[in-house]
This record gives sequence, structure tokens and C-alpha cells, in this order.
Amino acid sequence: MAAENREVLVKADHVKVYFKGKSKKSGTVKAVDDVSFEIMKGETFGVVGESGCGKSTLGKTLVRLLQPTEGEVYLEGKAISQLKGNELKQVHKDAQVIFQDPSASLNPRRTIKQIMMEPFEIHNIKVDNVDARILELLNLVGMDEYHLSRYPHELSGGQKQRIGIARALALNPKIIICDEAVSALDVSVQAQVLNLLQELKEKLGLTYFFISHNLNVVYQLSDRVAVMYLGRIVEIADYDQLYANTAHPYTKALLSAIPQVGGEKSERIRLEGELPSPSNPPSGCHFHTRCSQVCDRCRQEVPVMKEIEPGHFVACHLFD
Ligand code: SF4
Repeated sequence: MAAENREVLVKADHVKVYFKGKSKKSGTVKAVDDVSFEIMKGETFGVVGESGCGKSTLGKTLVRLLQPTEGEVYLEGKAISQLKGNELKQVHKDAQVIFQDPSASLNPRRTIKQIMMEPFEIHNIKVDNVDARILELLNLVGMDEYHLSRYPHELSGGQKQRIGIARALALNPKIIICDEAVSALDVSVQAQVLNLLQELKEKLGLTYFFISHNLNVVYQLSDRVAVMYLGRIVEIADYDQLYANTAHPYTKALLSAIPQVGGEKSERIRLEGELPSPSNPPSGCHFHTRCSQVCDRCRQEVPVMKEIEPGHFVACHLFD
């Protein structure tokens, strides 16, 4: 599942992340269930799906904040799931995360300057002129010297998220996981932060793994998009392929909810029923309880990923 002629930065190979349920009755939660893909250097790889589909768990597994139950994650060809000590620390330096809630990720008792120094302190990195480096990072995200002595509560939501982005950039990461990074912001501020992320990507050659429940937001930033449903990826494509030639019934339903994407307004496909529990997912194709095109085979057999056009993959029996 690789984009052609580009270098693979991250590879997820049959990754499963299972958790024990809170009670014996709730069984095993299959948060990520056999997921494989590659992220190329310099691309934005978007992941979209409903809340609880496993996308945040997957993001944390890519940067070894979680360990896969099975399968492997490779960063620049190196398997990271069993790394310890300094090698693991290096992964946590190379792969940074921007979280959804900027207020929760910034220590309210520290000034912005102190917060910006955290990455250098945690990784014990000496910078010749740390003040100049911090100022350079603030300028990159559209902030300045004035903000150095402020506390997080003195900043707006958008400014706090800019600090989160500047801090993530401090150690020149190879990949940044944006986990619902604009979801807590007002729509107008969302647009500003998305523009900033795009500018930084172009200026610094960054690679993003961009997680959102909102396909419209993913659409604005992503080069390729993976659609997740109940722990599995059901479709991967370039964003233009995904919109022009949508294949999976679940992706069609997601897209029909945002008529402004792709030009003409299409008929809204309403998904019936609730998202099933990942501790007791439906047999065969996980989507079969909500799919209008379900057949007997769907209830029994897990559909495997197939390439239906160059770079466009789908897991659905309709494409066998
Ligand atoms: Fe629907 Fe069957 Fe395709 Fe699943 S495999 S999406 S149930 S048609």
C-alpha cells in the first residue's frame, strides 16, 4: 500500500492492539485489529472514522506510547515495538504528538518559555542559545517574544494549540501525530491552525499522521486518507481518488454527510444503528450490521484489502 517512488517513513505491519475489558463479561477490546499501511516521507496521511474506531490507539502505537499486541511498527525500517532505554527515547524524540486539548497538554503553572524548554530538558539536549531557538519556534507558529512570559490561561485556544505545535517541532521530529488537533477549536480558528500545519509541512518538509473524526478536516490537509471502522482500515486512497471514486459503503456514507466536498450534493446515506462495541464486534465484515449491501458472505468472511486501482485499496466483498 505504498505511494510510488517515495521513501517509506513508517510501516505498520499487521498491527493488532487488544485490551482487556473492564469486566470479565466485556471480554477483549480489539481496538486495532490487523492493520497494515505505509506512510511516505513528506506526506500527510489522514485517518478518519467515528469516535471509538481505534484511530487514536493506532496513532499512539505508531510512536510507541502503546505496544502492539501483535504485528510490528517500523520507523525508517527499524522495528520499534520491543525497543527500550535510549533507543525508545530516540523514537519519542523522532515522533511527536499534538493532542486534541491544548489546555490539558500545557502545564498551567509554567510560563510559555518554561513549557517550550520541556523537550530539551526531557531529552537532555544542550542547545547553544536556547532562548534564540525558542523564539525561532514561536515565530514559526506566528507568535513572538511577548508570549514567552505568559501562562497558558492567558492565551486563546488557538494560541495554546500553536504552542503545542511549536513544542512538537522543537526536536526536529521525523513524524508528527496530530490527534484530533483542531477538534476542540472554533471553526474559524480550525482553519487558521490547518493552514499553519500546511505551511509548516511545506517549509520544513514534515510528515503528519493526521487523525480526525471529521472527514472535511482530513480532506483539507491529507495527501492520502485511510478510513477506519471498528479497529480495521476499510479503504485507503489518495484524497482525490477517495472522493472521485469512493468504493467502500462506509466511506460513501461518511462522504454523503459532507456535501460541500466533491462538488455536487449527493444523497445523504444514513447509517442505521449504533457503532457496535469493539469488545464484541460483528463477525465477518465488521460493517455488516449497518451496510445496505450486506450478503451472507459478509456475515461470515472477513474481507481482505484489495487494490482496485493503483494506490486505491478497499476491504469489501463487493470488489472480489
Ligand atoms: Fe457491506 Fe459486505 Fe462490503 Fe462489508 S463486505 S462493506 S457488509 S458489502
